[in-house]
Amino acid sequence: MTTIVYGVKSFKKVYGPKGDPKECPYCHRVYQETYVRINKWGHLEYIPLIPLGKDYYHFCPICFYGDMVDKENKKAVKKIVKDKTPATTNTAPRAYHHKLEKTWDLVVIDQNSGETFPVLTQASKSEYKETKKRRFYKKVEEFEV
Ligand SMILES: [Zn+2]
Repeated sequence: MTTIVYGVKSFKKVYGPKGDPKECPYCHRVYQETYVRINKWGHLEYIPLIPLGKDYYHFCPICFYGDMVDKENKKAVKKIVKDKTPATTNTAPRAYHHKLEKTWDLVVIDQNSGETFPVLTQASKSEYKETKKRRFYKKVEEFEV
């Protein structure tokens, strides 16, 4: 018996900080945004065959408030993510592992001003991992405390 596997696979690419600094409607910080492009493909037997379009999302790098870029703004965003102008805002995630308590704190640091924004406090390992994934962090500087 043969079964043919069909499905939709998505590939994501993360850009940023990009574009003009914008005030976040949620936390009101002014930073260049993080952009994410999701390419969807219909696949047959895990071989991507049919392009199903690209969606762009934009996020505040501090609180990660954001949403999908609508049709009218897609063109402008395509330009923003391709723009090679060096970033003017520079934020990075940092994690503190409380070994004894087995908990994690996650913060975002503004590397220009040194300001620290808490993201998670006393989180479990799975919560920390989940947040890392949700924020598209590839690498987080981790410290043991
Ligand atoms: Zn925000």
